[in-house]
Amino acid sequence: MPDSGYRGRLAPTPTGRLHLGHALTFRVAHDRCREKNGVLIYRNEDLDPDRCRPEFITAAMDDLRWLGIDWDEGPGGGGRFGPYDQSARLDRYREAWETLRLRNVIYPCRCSRRDLQEAARAPHEAGGEAIYPGTCRPGGSGALAAVDWPINAGQGGVCWRFRVIDGQDLSFEDGRLGSRTYQAGRDFGDFVIWRRDDVPAYELAVVVDDAAMKVTEVVRGADLLLSTARQCLLYRALGLALPAFHHTPLVGGPDGRRLAKRDQAASIGSLRDRGLSPDEVFVMARNSLIIESDTNE
Ligand code: GLU
Repeated sequence: MPDSGYRGRLAPTPTGRLHLGHALTFRVAHDRCREKNGVLIYRNEDLDPDRCRPEFITAAMDDLRWLGIDWDEGPGGGGRFGPYDQSARLDRYREAWETLRLRNVIYPCRCSRRDLQEAARAPHEAGGEAIYPGTCRPGGSGALAAVDWPINAGQGGVCWRFRVIDGQDLSFEDGRLGSRTYQAGRDFGDFVIWRRDDVPAYELAVVVDDAAMKVTEVVRGADLLLSTARQCLLYRALGLALPAFHHTPLVGGPDGRRLAKRDQAASIGSLRDRGLSPDEVFVMARNSLIIESDTNE
C-alpha cells in the first residue's frame, strides 16, 4: 500500500452517467495521487434520495475502471475512514450542524424558492447565482427568534444557512490557477448547509468528509471554485485544517457550454458504446476545453 501522506479522492454524485468533464477531472485526481504515491479514496456522494439512482452508482464505478482509473479505499473495499457512501454518514453531518449552530454561524430560513426568485430579480446576481437577500438572517424582517429555532436539523420545514460576513475576502491557493480571491456578499451570499427536506447540503457534507477522510488535496472542476470559497468558511467555522485545492479545466459541448449530466452524447458510456478507446476519450476531453479568462469567475 502506498503511503506518502498524500490522500486524494474521487467523489462522483450518482445522479446520471459520468461525462467527458468527469473523465478529465478524475484522470487528473488519479494521476496526481499516483505521482505522489498517495492513497486515493472513492466516495459515493449519494445524499439526494430523489435524484440518486443505484444504477448510476454502478455505472460510475464501471466507467472509471474502464478508463483505467482505480482507487484504494471505497464502498465495499477496505479503508479506515468508511463508510464511503454519504448516505451512511448522516450522523457526522448532524454533529457538524450542531457545532455550527452552537457557534452561532448558521440560522434557520423559511424562504421558499419562489420568495428567492422574486427577491433575486435584477440587482443581486453573481455569476448567474442569486445572493440570498437576508430575509431570515438574525435581525432580518423574517428572522425567527433564536428561542424558536428548531432543535434538530431537518425539523420545522426550514433550511439552515451559513451566515457570511458581507465584504469579507476569501483567498485560497489553487494548484493550477494560483491565488484566488472571492468576496462574501458579492460573489456568494448566505448559503444552505442543510436543506428543508432534511438532506445535508453538498457544501457541508463534502467538508465534513474531506476532513474526516484526511484528504490532503481536493481535485475538482473549476465550476466549483465558488464552492471552495464557501467551504473555506466551513472549515474555519468547524475548526478544521484546509486541504490543498486543484481545480481542473472545464469541458464544453458542441455549443461551447459546460457539459452537464443531461448531455448524454458526451457520456463516457455512450462514447465507449460508439467504439472509442479510453485514450480517445481523454483526447476528446482535452480538445473540448473551455477557454478560461484569467480573472476570478
Ligand atoms: N459530488 C460532487 C460532484 O460530483 C463532488 C464535487 C467535489 O469534488 O467536491 O460535483
